[in-house]
Amino acid sequence: MADFSELNLNPSVLAAVHEAGYKTPTPIQAMAIPPALEGRDVLGIAQTGTGKTASFVLPMITALTSGRARARMPRSLVLAPTRELASQVAESFNIYAKNQKLKMCLLIGGVAFGEQMAMTDRGVDVLIATPGRLLDHFERGRLLLSGVSIMVVDEADRMLDMGFIPDVERIFRLTPFTRQTLFFSATMPPEIERITNEFLSNPARVEIAKQATVADNIEQSAKMIQPARRDMEFKEKRNLLRETISDRGDRITNAIIFCNRKSDVDILLRSMRAHKFDCSALHGDLDQSIRTRVLSEFRDGGKRFLIASDVAARGLDIPIVSHVINFDVPVNPEDYVHRIGRTGRAGRKGEAITLLAPGDRKKLKEIETLTGCEIRIDSAAGEAGLTTGKPPVADPGRKSSNKSRSGDKRQSNKEFRQRRGRNAAVAVADTESDGNWEHIPAFLKRNLEGRVSP
Ligand code: AMP
Repeated sequence: MADFSELNLNPSVLAAVHEAGYKTPTPIQAMAIPPALEGRDVLGIAQTGTGKTASFVLPMITALTSGRARARMPRSLVLAPTRELASQVAESFNIYAKNQKLKMCLLIGGVAFGEQMAMTDRGVDVLIATPGRLLDHFERGRLLLSGVSIMVVDEADRMLDMGFIPDVERIFRLTPFTRQTLFFSATMPPEIERITNEFLSNPARVEIAKQATVADNIEQSAKMIQPARRDMEFKEKRNLLRETISDRGDRITNAIIFCNRKSDVDILLRSMRAHKFDCSALHGDLDQSIRTRVLSEFRDGGKRFLIASDVAARGLDIPIVSHVINFDVPVNPEDYVHRIGRTGRAGRKGEAITLLAPGDRKKLKEIETLTGCEIRIDSAAGEAGLTTGKPPVADPGRKSSNKSRSGDKRQSNKEFRQRRGRNAAVAVADTESDGNWEHIPAFLKRNLEGRVSP
């Protein structure tokens, strides 16, 4: 899924998503939003950190755009296991519904009943609540759940752990059976399976595979250029690329250098050749026969560097490489996963380096969200030199590498994942259809398995 605009969200919801800075839906969003917008029940099996909140908040807001709230009869309900989670959902709701006139009320412990009652008495479109507090209000006769047309259960397995399942079942029974249900759980223990069988009707089952071991054998890092002017970015990146290659010396057996634009592939090819680098190029304008020839030459070791665009590389049998260098940060985070999947195959060590311009931080963040890995930003060796016209590095001639920069203060990818203790999704809705699976190593494939039932 390339863009949120393809998801049929209400235009003002879409505007709020863009204003929040999100362009590309995460896998759970790409897979859960379309069936939810069709009015289907959704069973989402996904962890926190996958972007699951927006996957139910966005269709909810879209569905509530027309219609008005009646006193004490919320039109939709979100159940969350803890105050903190309920508050986070409410925050998301405020961000994405900022262009709508929807009334939201948060019913959680620790807040005076009076205030909450005054709000529900006036009528709310969205009620976000923990189960116990919701039932308190119901028992005081201050709420009727018979007007709920959409109900969300978030983190159902945590509700189970906390002993809330009887409350959740009771709440389900208080809502109309015609309601739409969006149900999320990180895991599916039998008790959760049972209540989904009882309360969901023919749900679209959307599952984001656990991120067990994201490419632990691929070392990921990035380097930032510091151009004095915007129009110097391309030149500075070319300098940084040569530096990066020469730093690594003969550790680079062979490398693919990815550019976003085919015109840049051509320019970079000429520049690299002028600096005596042994390289060839692959882009979409080349004849299939030339592409095949370029590839087999690269595979046979006839060339050390291959400069390529994503389109050109897609669907081709790209050989194993020791290094992937992203000359540009890919526009789609999923392309990053495809690109770096060319290295570190069959358990071998690989390295992926991404060159960044100052405006690329947001794109890098999106990649981090998608993959659940923090990408270390190394200081560029000749940072000062690069901006002050330090002479470019000449033909590297596979010189021995100088010092490693992995002593960076930021955490390694592995440590970062452990610290976060969460499973992020790297599944992409369209991965299976782009014919690229054969290039992806098994350990990444496992993480790319996102499924939606028919
Ligand atoms: P959640 O799993 O809903 O707790 O979301 C995890 C984080 O991902 C939150 O910080 C969101 O702001 C962020 N996020 C949600 N959707 C996207 C998206 N489409 N692209 C990038 N980040 C997102």
